[in-house]
Amino acid sequence: MDITRRGFLASSVALGACTALPDRAAGSDVMFPVPATYIPVVGSAQKFQVRRIYCVGRNYAAHAREMGSDPTREPPFFFQKPTDAIQLVPQGVTIDHPYPSMTKNYHYEVELVAAIGKRGKNIPAAQALDYAVAYAVGLDMTRRDLQRGMGDQKKPWEVGKSFDNSAVISHLHPVAMTGHFTKGAIWLKVNGQTKQSANLSQMIWSVAEQIAHLSQFYELAPGDIIYSGTPENVGPVVPGDIMEAHIDGIYDIRAKVV
Ligand code: MN
Repeated sequence: MDITRRGFLASSVALGACTALPDRAAGSDVMFPVPATYIPVVGSAQKFQVRRIYCVGRNYAAHAREMGSDPTREPPFFFQKPTDAIQLVPQGVTIDHPYPSMTKNYHYEVELVAAIGKRGKNIPAAQALDYAVAYAVGLDMTRRDLQRGMGDQKKPWEVGKSFDNSAVISHLHPVAMTGHFTKGAIWLKVNGQTKQSANLSQMIWSVAEQIAHLSQFYELAPGDIIYSGTPENVGPVVPGDIMEAHIDGIYDIRAKVV
């Protein structure tokens, strides 16, 4: 009896130790496997695996001015968000978007997003659109108070821009379906009221020029996406607000701040 009982306890402990580990394939050499981030592609059964999220800063003149800089003299600059910051918005669905911690001034930024499908560095602008294979509408959600506060202290603004769910995005629309985006309306509404409204043709640096500049700093690769910058009139949202974002040729995305 004692021996049986001891044997049972021993195997329970062994089983407990085993099930305490996260799910993983037997024999895997990965200690804690991390799920990949994917964006569905409209009209396709295939998904786009996200490698890196790049963002362009101050790419509309009026927005650059509202952020306190001179748009005429600045080359484009870039920052990144973590790949798993993606929050997908399917067509016809209002997603719940969590209000993040540590901010009292949480801002929307509606942006065109370009997806890269080809590896390259030092890409000439004239060839750059060959690297953009799909587009989406996205929100570069921003803890503005933290971004400004860190900037004022000449510290990295990472905590203002790079956090969970900060990269809201529609599914990807292949270039074969939509063509490239050089013009067209881009707008954002909060609770049905228009807050941002501009035209993609007002971007200081086109998608082609963004790719050309960015590829001087980083080798681009399939899986990279680029948030192209936001027009003027960024502003705050609070829990309960419904954000609706539009770019001509892409389905509208809707997110409720919760
Ligand atoms: Mn932005």
